[in-house]
Amino acid sequence: MSDLVLGTEPKLRARVTMTLLALYGYAACTGILLYLVHIREVPARTAMPLVAFMWTGVPLFYLLVRTGISKRLGSPGMDLPQCLFAMASILIAYVIVGPMRNAVLLLIALVMVFSMITLTPRQVRIMGVTTFGFLGLAMAWLTLHEPGQVDARMELMKFVLAACTLPVISTVASHVAKLRTRLVDQKQELQHALSMLHEVATRDELTGLHNRRHMHQLLEQQYKRQLRSGEGFCLALMDLDHFKHVNDQFGHQMGDMVLKAFAEAIGKELRQTDVLARWGGEEFLLMLTAPDPGLHGAQASLARFQAALQQVVVGNGVRVTFSAGLTEHPPGEPLHETLERADRGLYQAKAHGRNRVELMLPPPIDQSHTTRTPLAEDDQV
Ligand code: GH3
Ligand code: MG
Ligand code: MG
Repeated sequence: MSDLVLGTEPKLRARVTMTLLALYGYAACTGILLYLVHIREVPARTAMPLVAFMWTGVPLFYLLVRTGISKRLGSPGMDLPQCLFAMASILIAYVIVGPMRNAVLLLIALVMVFSMITLTPRQVRIMGVTTFGFLGLAMAWLTLHEPGQVDARMELMKFVLAACTLPVISTVASHVAKLRTRLVDQKQELQHALSMLHEVATRDELTGLHNRRHMHQLLEQQYKRQLRSGEGFCLALMDLDHFKHVNDQFGHQMGDMVLKAFAEAIGKELRQTDVLARWGGEEFLLMLTAPDPGLHGAQASLARFQAALQQVVVGNGVRVTFSAGLTEHPPGEPLHETLERADRGLYQAKAHGRNRVELMLPPPIDQSHTTRTPLAEDDQV
């Protein structure tokens, strides 16, 4: 129900809630107005147009904000229009409510406080000036058109009082609004800094791939997920062949370019569920997850990567290949054991001539594994 009334998006919900908060104020004012009509302090023919005015505005603002039309109009919360509308209702009430009019002035302060927390400093100033101007007009109109009802000298004194207090209220409101704006800016800067920090902490600077620390976290997450779902995942430890030659022959810079080119070429071939990390110097760890790829599916992926890498030429004709040890992680097996098996596979691939993928079958399922912790004391490969 609340999703229907307020929407589901958090920012929209906050805006709609603010709009509905005003409902409470309008309902109270309507109740008082109707009571004044009932006790014949205010004629129905003057009160009803104001009631109609208020209750046209309230649902209109709600609809504009709730449907998002307000966003297209450039004011998502319709804050300034809503404050001006409330102020207009108050000033009309000031003119028509007879002896209650002095109490109505309190509502002006209420709207100014509301504007502090919703408007920008500039909008608060617009509100202050508009309110002051129209209050003067309302008082002048009353003095000229209803001389029997108001004392011109008293109206003048009230205007002088308003002239003294309104600028103070609007200055304070504008100051609070400025503080709010600064807070919002600082929050954005902080969010930006946090995302930069996250980037630095989780990404490898050279290749842009996940770094080893982050890959550990992703492996542990996958380990836990797998314990629940029972679906296996595969790990492949990949290492560039004769990479030292590239550095020795063409320089370290060219070596860096090759690492980047490798990451880019393989990155293009990755599925959404595959994760590639820079595990060490020229070593990369690949995790192939759902839907349970199986060793043969993973093997096909690696063959695809090898084919993609064959097309890559860096600088003046530098080409590289990689060797890999590929294995499957059975649910519950400590991760360091899976990693060690992949490493043994890589070692064998190198020993068997490089540019190849060595398949390492996992041991038969051992139930005792399911109670162990994901990364045991030594996960270094
Ligand atoms: P193998 O086929 O047996 O893997 O031989 P290899 O030459 O690739 O292996 P080795 O471990 O002897 O050499 C790896 C080299 O990778 C040594 C190191 O200087 C280089 N290396 C590690 N990290 C980086 C890096 O970030 N940039 C560059 N340019 N080179 C790096
Ligand atoms: Mg190597
Ligand atoms: Mg190596």
